[in-house]
Amino acid sequence: MTDPMTAPVSSAMNDFESERWRVVRPTMDKETCTDCGACRNFCPMGAIYADEKVIRISYDVCIGCGICAVDCPIHAITMQPKPGAHS
Ligand code: SF4
Ligand code: SF4
Repeated sequence: MTDPMTAPVSSAMNDFESERWRVVRPTMDKETCTDCGACRNFCPMGAIYADEKVIRISYDVCIGCGICAVDCPIHAITMQPKPGAHS
């Protein structure tokens, strides 16, 4: 069995848009969101950013892990089925 820690990484990973293989993605309710930035601090992918102090999500980078939805203190993020995805 191949040791996953030493297995070679496919060169295709360089072109891999990781968000594509998820069937859910975070949806931010901007009516509720206070732009506190807490979700940005917890996102492991750096997919959440501030655009002139407004917090936004880059779906090109997001892997759909759901950490931001768990860590938003006011539950302004919910994980929703990605449009066109099959579960
Ligand atoms: S943690 Fe919640 S309230 Fe704060 S910026 Fe993120 S979505 Fe908005
Ligand atoms: S679902 Fe995960 S990767 Fe996507 S924005 Fe939230 S914390 Fe970041």
